[in-house]
Amino acid sequence: MDAVKFSTLPLSKEMLHNLEEIGYKEMTPIQTQSLPHILEGKDVIAQAKTGSGKTAAFGIGVLHRLHVKKFRVQTLILCPTRELSDQVAKELRMLARSIHNIKILTLCGGTAFGPQLGSLAHGAHIVVGTPGRILKHLKKESLSLSDMEILVLDEADRMLDMGFSEEINEVLGFVPKERQTLLFSATYNDEILDISAKIQKDAISIKTVSTEVANKIIQRFYEVGYGEKTAALVKIFSNFKPQNAIVFCNTKVEADEIAKTLQDKKIDALAIHGDLEQYDRNDVLVQFANKSCCVLVATDVAARGLDIKELSMVVNYDIPHSEETYTHRIGRTGRAGAEGLAFTLYEPNEARDADEYNNGTALFEDASLLKIVNGFEMRPENITLVIEGGKKDKIRAGDVLGALTGEAGLQGSQIGKIDIYDRQSYVAIKSAKIDEAYEKLKNGKIKGKKFSVWIL
Ligand code: ADP
Ligand code: MG
Repeated sequence: MDAVKFSTLPLSKEMLHNLEEIGYKEMTPIQTQSLPHILEGKDVIAQAKTGSGKTAAFGIGVLHRLHVKKFRVQTLILCPTRELSDQVAKELRMLARSIHNIKILTLCGGTAFGPQLGSLAHGAHIVVGTPGRILKHLKKESLSLSDMEILVLDEADRMLDMGFSEEINEVLGFVPKERQTLLFSATYNDEILDISAKIQKDAISIKTVSTEVANKIIQRFYEVGYGEKTAALVKIFSNFKPQNAIVFCNTKVEADEIAKTLQDKKIDALAIHGDLEQYDRNDVLVQFANKSCCVLVATDVAARGLDIKELSMVVNYDIPHSEETYTHRIGRTGRAGAEGLAFTLYEPNEARDADEYNNGTALFEDASLLKIVNGFEMRPENITLVIEGGKKDKIRAGDVLGALTGEAGLQGSQIGKIDIYDRQSYVAIKSAKIDEAYEKLKNGKIKGKKFSVWIL
């Protein structure tokens, strides 16, 4: 399908201008197909693979309908995880840059309840959050959805996987019957169709999966000797030299062990899995996304919803349990037209399972064919500084940037991604400049105030 411009849609001048400014020149296929219906107020159920721009598809629709003068919650967006809610809120804020005084609030579990009450008391136009926490607020009447016009279920498949269907059903008891309901999912199954039938009216079904150009993903399968997977992993890294990589394994214990072994071999790696505290998880995700960590060793659940734009390599340290998981894992690389590498390791007794993925395009070979590269190291481009202050302290990215670059400070190019959370901020600094940056922040002030600073 030919690319279609956003200007073909009945959007405001400001919105079109903003889309151009943030570099959204053309619609992605899911946006092309769903946005006209969404803007007309129709219910839509849409399936598209990860990274296809589903957030903007519903985000633009939601913002188009919003009356900013009416300070009531007009849209509720349900997401499976806190990370995903944060990503959705972030994308919405970027899309809403042209709308003054818009308030987008995230309400997720795993964070303190009390401060959320405070935020809610100030009101919001759009609420993004996880079903459990949203329900809790509805029951306590700290959140009212009586003026809600649009309900969005993002990654609905994942929400159902995680057992949120009960909460979703209960939330439905608190929202107006007359509404627009948008449902997005990476996969379709009977459960999804059931819930659509239950909560949507005459929903228009859109699937872009088959019409999209497939990501360019090079798939290779390596047979390795028993107990030699980590050694093979190191060889793969040294032969293919990816910028970054996610290594998927099936258990938490494995994730920790692999990360530790890689670190011992001078390959910068961090593990992420469900046992980590929320703060630690966030530390890891931020470091990986801002290029302060080269390799993320993850279980499936932990890596879900992570949006890394430039992921060079995915390694299946263990063969995934299902084809769906395999597709989902490898779909994280090769995004936006860039070529991705997807490697899978298997021991001789797993050869039959591996063979199920032998679709003619995947290359199968023995890991002993990989060259041995001496002296290989993987060091991150950046190191992350944490500032013990965030949105609640009215800190913005610009303030952090200002504190670092002002008066004989660092250059803008030496500073990477800045992530501001409620009570903490993270800033990526080019590794060689970390000490300088640390000193500058430690001795300086942000918005006229001193904050604790440390290096992750
Ligand atoms: P999904 O939810 O489908 O997995 P996202 O909504 O997270 O995907 O989008 C993936 C990336 O593509 C995001 O970084 C987003 O900013 C970007 N993106 C979305 N729409 C466009 C567009 N029309 N042009 C360019 N980039 C886009
Ligand atoms: Mg999404």
